[in-house]
Amino acid sequence: MLILVINCGSSSVKYELFGENRDSDLFSLENRSLSLFSGSVERIGEKGSSCKNHYEAVGVIRKRLFAPDKKRIIRKVDDIKGIGHRIVHGGEEFSKATEITRGVLKSIARSSKLAPLHNPSALEGIKACARYFRGIRQVAVFDTAFHQSLPAYAYLYGIPFSFYKKYKIRKYGFHGTSHRFVASEAAKKLGKSLTKLKIITVHLGNGCSMAAISGGKSIDTTMGFTPLEGLLMGTRTGDMDPAIVTFLMEKEGLSVNEMNEVMNNKSGLLGLSGVSNDMRDIARAAKKGNKRAHTAFKIFVYRIKKYIGAYAAVLGGLDGVVFTGGIGENMPEIKKTLAANLRPLLGNKVKFLTIPTNEELLIARDTYKLIKKTKTREYKNAKSKT
Ligand code: ADP
Repeated sequence: MLILVINCGSSSVKYELFGENRDSDLFSLENRSLSLFSGSVERIGEKGSSCKNHYEAVGVIRKRLFAPDKKRIIRKVDDIKGIGHRIVHGGEEFSKATEITRGVLKSIARSSKLAPLHNPSALEGIKACARYFRGIRQVAVFDTAFHQSLPAYAYLYGIPFSFYKKYKIRKYGFHGTSHRFVASEAAKKLGKSLTKLKIITVHLGNGCSMAAISGGKSIDTTMGFTPLEGLLMGTRTGDMDPAIVTFLMEKEGLSVNEMNEVMNNKSGLLGLSGVSNDMRDIARAAKKGNKRAHTAFKIFVYRIKKYIGAYAAVLGGLDGVVFTGGIGENMPEIKKTLAANLRPLLGNKVKFLTIPTNEELLIARDTYKLIKKTKTREYKNAKSKT
């Protein structure tokens, strides 16, 4: 059985093809050996790019999948049993992976106003798959779904309740697939059932977020209504006093778009250091004595420390802290420093772990499980027509 994972970003489409091992239920295993091949189509819609939009990009992916050198792996569209899509925003409508039907498409479209750069591209990707991989069942796996278990006191902001009712302004949280994946891997490493563990997951990539996970359920997370809230990131501010926004707009004469650009693309490690948004450059510059890079690095680590303390309190105990993402996986010194610093507070029993994230594998597993478990009406109809 083959499962194709499609991840439509704002200007790229990544894909990965997973296969089943006959010896065992490989989709329940943690290794990457079931990944048959992967790739991406980048710079969609940019000058000189061969793809005008995400729809065309899926056409390119289909061609690549059926290239002559792949014949031993895949011969016909029907060899693919399911296509799993990463969807950034599921709003309040989805708390788990869902097979895509017309109704689900409409719901994803409704959430587009909350993720204007991502959901529309994902919708295009789904529609393109329906054409280029006709008849193959499709599944949506949402970044926000894992955090739908947050209680109202964690997800509501202190603004008039009418704005929540009118615009659905609340904390949604992101990176849900990554937090869920590393939490379940951590349980395996700790040799305990996830339902019995209190874990903090720390995803440090270009975007950074943390989650407090109790018994396998997310009960709080640092990103909010948008990915801007929480930790310091490559180019995003993370937490700050909202009055800074109106102050700066007035003093600098910034438009809404310009202010958004400052907060999303000019702040964080880049804005503070003036060096780069890339942690490798920041670490190098700090070592060479660049003071602003050094301070930016300190702020980055300080916020993680602050949230570990807060989430240990929120969880009412703690078994493990898990680091993942490009920075989390490659800079063990951050984990070591924090573990040493927090020992007096947390004691010696709390384990600090590094676990590589693999969102595509989790999307493939979710897709596989759903397809194995259910036969939807739409699917049956589609089958009976052919
Ligand atoms: P994304 O959020 O786009 O998936 P990644 O998870 O790949 O991003 O993380 C990107 C970040 O990881 C960048 O800040 C990069 O500097 C950092 N990174 C990647 N490799 C290393 C490394 N060997 N040492 C330190 N940081 C690294």
